[in-house]
Amino acid sequence: MEDYLVKALCYEGSIRAYAIRATNTISEAQKRHDTWSSSTAALGRTMVGALLLGATLKGEDKMTVKVQGNGPAGSIIVDSDGSGNTKGYIKNPHVSLTLNENGKIDVKGAVGTEGIFTVIKDLGLKETFSGQTPIISGEIGEDFTYFMAVSEQTPSAVGLSVLVDPDESVKAAGGFMIQVMPGADEETIDFIEKRLTEVPMVSKLLEEGNSPESILELLLGEKEIEILEKMPVQFKCTCSKEKFGTAIIAVGLDEINAMIEEDHGAEAVCQFCGNKYQYSEADLIALRDEAIKNTKEI
Ligand SMILES: [Zn+2]
Repeated sequence: MEDYLVKALCYEGSIRAYAIRATNTISEAQKRHDTWSSSTAALGRTMVGALLLGATLKGEDKMTVKVQGNGPAGSIIVDSDGSGNTKGYIKNPHVSLTLNENGKIDVKGAVGTEGIFTVIKDLGLKETFSGQTPIISGEIGEDFTYFMAVSEQTPSAVGLSVLVDPDESVKAAGGFMIQVMPGADEETIDFIEKRLTEVPMVSKLLEEGNSPESILELLLGEKEIEILEKMPVQFKCTCSKEKFGTAIIAVGLDEINAMIEEDHGAEAVCQFCGNKYQYSEADLIALRDEAIKNTKEI
């Protein structure tokens, strides 16, 4: 089944809602980074949240979500855009804690309960826009919800969930974001709040075969939903040998000479996707020539 996100309006436009199935996307991240259960859920929830928040952007616009907590997983950095692409990185992929008191993966224990949650938006303008809130839970979904309320001033409910099998593979991953627009009536808000407490976790619903559309129907009541858009989502990294070459040029002549004379080559590893790029001695000499040319131009 393909991964996709739906955008919807409900209750005469007073509620905006998004739901996503991202099982393949998070499964690819798990394989690329060889993450263990708590790290998988922490990185996966952040990626699903970044895709949901990214869906509020225009196609070309990009965003970065950073979760810098005090837990053993270390920093999580996720990029997403308005076209459904995401990639992500977690400092320690090998965190696998015992299940929490609810029998769920311990994400809070991996992320930590103190730290900073940052969203940086690149809207193609000269400056980027960034917002920051403290980590209030470490379960990620609540941290997105808090960020939306405080930094974006949009009352929202964000649910993110990742189901991991005992063999570490991702069984299901997805989420939803419901936003209350000005003019929404109390009755509607009360109804949705009640539904949110009654409906099972998204990963459970996905595992049972529900689509993003049917998840929204469960959360909001099917008669009221107008689906505006359906957008495929995927893991996508834009790294290349050429881009890392530019980074090698930037480290300076002494370093490049050392790579040539001592190592007779170099390898660059992308921290977002794990792809490896090899540079032969000849490649490095060409990069060194480029670096010399740049120095002269300055
Ligand atoms: Zn990459």
